[in-house]
Amino acid sequence: MTTYQGSCHCGRIAFEADGDLTQVLQCNCTMCRRRGHLLWFVTKTNFRLKTPDENASTYRFNTMKIAHRFCPTCGVGPYSEATDPQGNPTAAVNARCLDGVDLASLKVIEYDGLHK
Ligand SMILES: [Zn+2]
Repeated sequence: MTTYQGSCHCGRIAFEADGDLTQVLQCNCTMCRRRGHLLWFVTKTNFRLKTPDENASTYRFNTMKIAHRFCPTCGVGPYSEATDPQGNPTAAVNARCLDGVDLASLKVIEYDGLHK
């Protein structure tokens, strides 16, 4: 298992996440198609903020179940928070915000979030 370091652009939000990043999810919902995030899901126990939680602003829409966290200073959205179908707290990490990741090497899985 690898520990990845992640952050927004200005550094107001920084975190680390444990796991093996080989594939990401690209969603076509009204939010994701605009933001272009590549989503990597980790359980909350494998996600650690290195900056205060309140450094990130929160945006919710539609069912309001997902907290899309973003930086009010630089505008980058490094992660979102929700629970998986089994009820486990999960972080959807934006793989574009991780250090040292070769994005082109990741398998991209298309997810039809627009019609969920
Ligand atoms: Zn920032």
